[in-house]
Amino acid sequence: MGSKPFKIRSADDSQKYGVAAQDLNDLIAKGCKVLKVPIKGCKICLQQDGTLINSREFFQALPPLSVLVFLRKGEKWTGDDYGKMIKTLLEAPEDPVRRQQLTENLEDMIAKESSPERVHALNLYLQSIPDNIDAETREEDPDWFEGLDKRYKTKSQVMAYSAQGRIRGYFSTTKEFISNLEDPVTKLILKRVLESFRPRLKNNGYHGDYFRRTAKPKKRLCTQAGWFVCHGPYNTKTCQEKHMINPYSSRQKRAAFSTWNLDHRIEKSRSILPSMQQAAMSCPKGKQLNWEYFYELLFTTDNLKLVEISCHKKDAHKGYDCDEKKYYTGK
Ligand SMILES: [Zn+2]
Repeated sequence: MGSKPFKIRSADDSQKYGVAAQDLNDLIAKGCKVLKVPIKGCKICLQQDGTLINSREFFQALPPLSVLVFLRKGEKWTGDDYGKMIKTLLEAPEDPVRRQQLTENLEDMIAKESSPERVHALNLYLQSIPDNIDAETREEDPDWFEGLDKRYKTKSQVMAYSAQGRIRGYFSTTKEFISNLEDPVTKLILKRVLESFRPRLKNNGYHGDYFRRTAKPKKRLCTQAGWFVCHGPYNTKTCQEKHMINPYSSRQKRAAFSTWNLDHRIEKSRSILPSMQQAAMSCPKGKQLNWEYFYELLFTTDNLKLVEISCHKKDAHKGYDCDEKKYYTGK
């Protein structure tokens, strides 16, 4: 077998060099030497779309003079040519791993893109790319369900359950907070509030619809295809990074989505719970705690923002406090 010529470069230097290699090992050995990249941990990918060259078959299929990027351990390359990436994706490569990787690279590129028009256009493309997004049942996409309990039959079911888990978590925290209170009167008032929360939560299906793409448009946070966009940090209107994800598309995306947060703009532990305590302690005679107000703060998107992990700011949400005027109802 003869040698094949390539153009190679490193991730941090666009200077290209020519090498000829007989096979993948030969390419790694020669390329690493030329580019002074350590062989250990080195990966090679296509410059245009970041696809890793990791099999003999793929190496053989590469056209001569392909431009390749040598990555040092831990380095990432997401491609530099939207057009070619999209074209490759639309041709729907058979290999699901490659498809997944291309999609992720494209998403990374979109995240870095600063023109809103381009982001919009690219997102439209991305949504039109064929993959397993449309598959909904376990039979249609068994890989997506790997590691999940047998009782789950559809993706929407799983996602709804995941939203419910978060809401139930907020309820448990509230319950725990109340049970730790010392003053018996305050405790009693808040226990009643808790008892009012319960049927409302049940009625609302513990807000599983937030993540269920089959839910009514007003109830869900995603598109009908299952795309979620990040709402941005608590003190901004939108996400500057254009974070987006479709957990319905693959098992990996489902896992990645679990790092997205429902962030309380008015914070649960720093603000809502202490405010509830305060309101109960100083409840005027003849008035009742406005439990619906606190319900909205704790469990609904009136106060919850869906955020990607880097938009989840952990510092105190200054300027976001409960509204004392809404603490009570009744005569
Ligand atoms: Zn974001």
